[in-house]
Amino acid sequence: MDAERQRFLARHPRSCALAQQAAGHFLFGVPLHWMRDWPTPATLFVRAARGAELTCADGHVLADFCLGDTGAMFGHSPPAVAQALAEQAARGLTSMLPDERAAEVGALLAQRFGLPCWQLAMTASDANRFVLRWARAATGRPQVLVFDGCYHGAVDDTLVDRDPATGATLRRPSVLGAVHDHPAFTRVAPFNDLAALERALVDRQVAALLAEPALTNFGLVPPQDGFWAEAQALCRRHGTLLVLDETHTLSSGVGGWARTHGVTPDVWVAGKAVAGGVPCAVYGFTEEVAQRLRAVKEAAPEGHSGIGTTLTANALALAALHAALTHLHTEATYAAMQQAADALQAGLEAALRRRGRPWTVTRLGARMELQFMPTTPRNADDVRRHLQPRLEQSLHLFMLNRGVLLTPFHGMLLCSPATSAAHVERLLQAFDDWLAALV
Ligand code: PMP
Repeated sequence: MDAERQRFLARHPRSCALAQQAAGHFLFGVPLHWMRDWPTPATLFVRAARGAELTCADGHVLADFCLGDTGAMFGHSPPAVAQALAEQAARGLTSMLPDERAAEVGALLAQRFGLPCWQLAMTASDANRFVLRWARAATGRPQVLVFDGCYHGAVDDTLVDRDPATGATLRRPSVLGAVHDHPAFTRVAPFNDLAALERALVDRQVAALLAEPALTNFGLVPPQDGFWAEAQALCRRHGTLLVLDETHTLSSGVGGWARTHGVTPDVWVAGKAVAGGVPCAVYGFTEEVAQRLRAVKEAAPEGHSGIGTTLTANALALAALHAALTHLHTEATYAAMQQAADALQAGLEAALRRRGRPWTVTRLGARMELQFMPTTPRNADDVRRHLQPRLEQSLHLFMLNRGVLLTPFHGMLLCSPATSAAHVERLLQAFDDWLAALV
């Protein structure tokens, strides 16, 4: 790590200078504090990003497998989105009225994601917060259920862990300025555990189960065969709305995991890449849920609903969403992503075998996770038992110094339609060098 830190500093004099300047006026030297949570000794500044490549302030070109932690899953600045944005930019940015493309966008959302009725938000965090509000209003129930190891954004209700001894809800100790009573309103169940799920639902106090189809934010934990069919049946039996947050699992295939696996949730959420990386999130629901939402809204007094923000569904976001739904959420795009991911997975697994490392590559469509454990985990506790943050940081810094960008905090690798065989080859070479360098 010491050698790699020195190497980074020597290779990035301009980023180091910018970091020093930015420290004068930004808290922690960055516009968002978590931009310092990379394992680099100084912040890496970006000059440009295009397709699957990112050029840093020192002019090094990186093969990007982080892709803005999924925001740029379809590649940086996809041409169709960039063009739509440029055209719209001269015709108004925001008006608090729907752009005339809105009707067509609604039809495209229904077509791509399979649910009839939609609302927009700016971010996936916002969408999840609004969905929980709608769900509590529609059901009249106070509780929310999530899976241990979840992440659904900056949403108080979901910033919780499960006490492994008692199963009780714990507020994450890292949450700042908390006044929300997390244990009073959120329940946490282990993933892939139908008995625990039923125990959480049986008293009929849970408005919504908010879940990713596979956990992607604490390692990658796929659902076991048949899990979701049973889980959905349990939700129905106990009157709980099933909300699938597909912000990351959109990498599964066109329309996301639910569409490709024939599951129709009550509510479906996606953000990040849904509009090609422009701030925009969507949530859709069944006609039955739509009727319930209309009824609660019509019964409520006039005034602030607590749902929505002023810039939500602005003209730029709608232009980007329209272009993304038309040109990015397509079979051709996903075929290119899968092809790159196939080569990457095969190469990683071959390197692990060659170097005798008993580690696992877990795959979900265009994304995969390198896990320092012998088999794919079943739940968050499996992941916790095998965490090796220092090893992970060493991998990330080593790769970055060799022109490959990985997602910080975990071993996620994502392929965009612009990810080429040469990008994959560069990653595999650097990975093999890292394996060879391990003691
Ligand atoms: N849902 C999921 C599944 C996520 O992974 C994330 C972010 N990692 C979010 C929601 C929140 O997205 P955002 O930070 O864009 O609001």
